[in-house]
Amino acid sequence: MINKYINQLIKYGINNHFLEEDDIYYAVNRILKLLDINSFQSIEVEEELDITKIINPIIDYAIANNCLKSSGLASKDAFEAQVIDCLLPRPSEMNRIFYKHYKTGPLTATNWFHDFSIKTNYIKTERIKQNINYKYVGKYAPLDITINLSKPEKDPLDIKLDKNNSTEYPLCPLCIENVGVYQTPSLAPRTNHRVVNLSLNHEKDKWGMQYSPYAYFNEHLIVLRKDHSPMYVNQKTFQELIDFINKFPHYLIGSNAGLPIVGGSILSHHHFQGGRYDFPIEKAQVLQKIKRKRMTIEILDWPLAAIRIIGSNENSILDMANSIFEYWQKYENQDIKILAKTDEEHNTVTPIVKLDGANYNFYMIFRNNLTSKELPLGIFHPNPSRFHIKKENIGLIEAMGMAILPGRLLQELEMIKEVLLNQKNILDYPDLDKHQEWIYYLKSQPLEDLDDLLKKEIGRIFEAVLEDCNVFKYGTKQDFINFVNKAIY
Ligand SMILES: [Zn+2]
Repeated sequence: MINKYINQLIKYGINNHFLEEDDIYYAVNRILKLLDINSFQSIEVEEELDITKIINPIIDYAIANNCLKSSGLASKDAFEAQVIDCLLPRPSEMNRIFYKHYKTGPLTATNWFHDFSIKTNYIKTERIKQNINYKYVGKYAPLDITINLSKPEKDPLDIKLDKNNSTEYPLCPLCIENVGVYQTPSLAPRTNHRVVNLSLNHEKDKWGMQYSPYAYFNEHLIVLRKDHSPMYVNQKTFQELIDFINKFPHYLIGSNAGLPIVGGSILSHHHFQGGRYDFPIEKAQVLQKIKRKRMTIEILDWPLAAIRIIGSNENSILDMANSIFEYWQKYENQDIKILAKTDEEHNTVTPIVKLDGANYNFYMIFRNNLTSKELPLGIFHPNPSRFHIKKENIGLIEAMGMAILPGRLLQELEMIKEVLLNQKNILDYPDLDKHQEWIYYLKSQPLEDLDDLLKKEIGRIFEAVLEDCNVFKYGTKQDFINFVNKAIY
C-alpha cells in the first residue's frame, strides 16, 4: 500500500509543477530513506487532488513502523514537512521561479507563491477552516472576530521530546535559518519552509517574504529581515513599508509598534505583516478631513487614535508621516496621562500602508506603552476586567479591527451555556473562574438566543479592549483632533 501512496505523492508533485520529471527518483529515494524502505515500484495510480489524503496514510505508515519518535501532532507535522520537502525545489530555484513570474507582474508572482504554499500544505488550509469568524457591528465600522482553533495546542507526547531543546539555533521563528530546518517539535514544522528574496529600501536581497501557516486572513504574509535584528519603528520603517507596496501594489503591509506592551509577540526580529484583505479600519467613518500639500489627512472615528494620510506622491506622504510621528514622539499631556518619556521612550505608532488606485493610504495608529501601579501591564492596554477575553498585547492586526481570540474560549463558552441554560453551579467549572462577573451580568440578559448574545458580547468586549488602548481615552475626541491639527505642518 505504501508504494501506492508514494506514487500518488510523486504524481501530485508533477501535476502541481513543483517536481520535475528529472527529479522523480531523487525525490523517491529521499522519501524511502525517511520511511526506512528499500524498494520502490513505479505504478499507475489515480490522481489525488487533496494532499492530506496522500500524506496522512504515509504518516500512519511511518508511525506503525517506528520512523517517528512520537505520534504527537507536532511530530507528525514535522515529519509531513520532511516528506513534502523531498518534492520541492531548493530555495534558489524557488527564487528563480518567483522572479520569472514577477516579470509578468507582481500579482502573477504572489499568486504562484501563495498557491505553492497551499499545495505543499505549508499553509494549513484544512485547519484554518476550523476557525470561527464573524462580524460584530458596534459603535464603529464592523469588527472582525476570530476564534482561533487552527493552531494546535502542544501535545504532551511532543513536550516530552522537547526537554533538551536549544533555542540558540535558529535564534527565533523569523530567522532565515529556519528554511529547511528540522529540529524538535517545539519549532513549527519548517523542512518545507521557503522564503523568497526581497530588496527593500535599496537593501538588495536583505529581506525575505513568506506566507503564514495559520493565516488569519487572505494571503496573510510575513516580510522579514534576513538578519536577526530588533524591531524598529521610524522613518526607515515607513520607507520600507512604502517600498514594499511599490513592489507589491495589491497587498496591505504594516508593522507592529516595536515597543513592549504595544508591539507584537516577536520584538527581537524586525518584520512586517501583510496580506490581501480589507480590514475594518479601512471602513472607519471620518471625523475630520484636512487638506495639505495635495494630500488629505483624515482623522478616523476608531476605537484607537488613528489617522489616514492619503496622497499619490510617495515623498510627500513620507514627509507628512515623519513629521506627525516626530511630533507624537515628543507629545505630552499630563492632564490626560500621556507621558512621552520616563527613563525610556513611550510614544510610538503602528504604521500600515495600502494602495487605493493611485493613492497611498498611510494609516498611523498612535500608541503608548506607559505602565502605572494600578495598571502594571500597561495603561493603554486591555483593562484587567476584560482579561477573561483578551489579555495579550493588541498588535497590528487587532489594532486594525480583527480580534484573534484563543481557542480555549470556545470550550469555555460551551460551559457558560451549560451554567446559564441548565442552572448549573459556576463553582463546578474551575475554568470559568475568570468569567464569573461576566456570567452574573449575562444572567440578567434575555437568553432566548444565547449563541447570538454570546457572539455580540464577545464583540462588545473586544471593542472595549480596543478603546482601552486608545492613547486619548482619558481625554475627549476633541483632544485627539487638536493634537492632529497641531502635528500637521
Ligand atoms: Zn530571528
